[in-house]
Amino acid sequence: MTADNPANATTAASDPAPRSRQLFERAEAVTPGGVNSPVRAFHSVGGTPRFMVHGEGAYLRDADGNSYVDLVSSWGPMINGHAHPDVVGAVREAAVDGLSFGTPATGEIDLAQEIIDRVDPVEHVRLVNSGTEATMTSIRLARAFTGRDKVLKFTGCYHGHVDSLLAGAGSGVATLGLPGTPGVTEAQAADTIVVPYNDLEAVRRAFAEHGDRIACVITEAAAGNMGAVPPREGFNAALREITREAGALLVMDEVMTGFRVSRAGWYGVDGVAGDLYTFGKVMSGGLPAAAFGGRADVMDLLAPRGPVYQAGTLAGNPVAVAAGLANLRAADADVYAALDRNASRLGGLLGDSLRERGVPHQISFAGNMLSVFFTETPVHDFAGAQAQQTWRFPAFFHELLRRGVYPPPSAFECWFVNAAMDDDAFEIIAEALPHAAAAAAAAEPGESK
Ligand code: PLP
Repeated sequence: MTADNPANATTAASDPAPRSRQLFERAEAVTPGGVNSPVRAFHSVGGTPRFMVHGEGAYLRDADGNSYVDLVSSWGPMINGHAHPDVVGAVREAAVDGLSFGTPATGEIDLAQEIIDRVDPVEHVRLVNSGTEATMTSIRLARAFTGRDKVLKFTGCYHGHVDSLLAGAGSGVATLGLPGTPGVTEAQAADTIVVPYNDLEAVRRAFAEHGDRIACVITEAAAGNMGAVPPREGFNAALREITREAGALLVMDEVMTGFRVSRAGWYGVDGVAGDLYTFGKVMSGGLPAAAFGGRADVMDLLAPRGPVYQAGTLAGNPVAVAAGLANLRAADADVYAALDRNASRLGGLLGDSLRERGVPHQISFAGNMLSVFFTETPVHDFAGAQAQQTWRFPAFFHELLRRGVYPPPSAFECWFVNAAMDDDAFEIIAEALPHAAAAAAAAEPGESK
């Protein structure tokens, strides 16, 4: 693909995506909001969500034939780029042998072993279908292991749509400005303690008050669901110390960071060992698969070895496992170097264009995940992320989209690079960014969509 992009040919007046618009109308008639995951609906940026029909390398193509440099990478999994031949080949090979057996199968052992080999504190692994399942069961395990009820989480961190973990959540909950969500009972929320991210004093206060009732702290190993907000120096290590002293477990949610920010995820960055880990995204290769794992003495409480129940008809699905394994095996040192290089190059271009137009901004990195916050103030927590000038984002977003770049459709999400991004892709980004920065500069408060 080249910088000669059909999306560039559209004018502001013409509709660049008539086919997507028709499809969205059909989708809205049969699916709440027309989407199967809220952020896809473009609610916070307005306009028509693009229906994608093809992904290859660094690019996506929509139903109208527009091509985009993809800076979402399916919200993280596609580190090797779309339709990587090794992953597609592994899926094809697995599929012809049967789609699901409901019995043990060899690939499950290999994928568990690959995870264990990469993340030292993980001794045993169980495969599930989504990150949500992984965090949900980790919490159950932590409660069973400690005999305690309460869970401490951080505002702006998102751990999937587990009832008790939606309080103060990031991602779509933040994008849509929801205070939590109806349908979660008071009882379900009552055992969740929510404190600001990166605020050790708040954690210490919570432990002083409830310490002997806290089963675990769950944290994104580096926050990505309020935008990219890394833990402050020593934050994760202090969580380790506080939980250990209080007899609580530390659950490191690496669904987003796992196998993306390094071979060993965020553990490879700061070396702070959790008791339990949750994984998804990259280890799925883009198919529905996720995992949780950790200390053998905790994991062995799971049925059938122990009394804590958890199960899944399609858990360890052979096709998903083959995709995940191929994705991980394709991610060698060169891929991790490319991800870091591409994130830094993208961040540099973003910063330069916004600076030239005098737009207040922070380019915030958590490893090779990054976000743009429209503020002069460095962001360390969700309150900081919310204080940005979000009203600049829709104009910025749509100018990029119109010029063949697909950023996340929310000011509270990470931008995910992939290793397939080449000079052509960066040329498209570099050409689009000055226009997007000008649009962000010209945006007015209140003009949100
Ligand atoms: N945990 C984190 C850190 C996530 O980013 C996500 C999803 O984005 C989840 C858990 C939930 O994963 P899933 O969407 O696969 O249920």
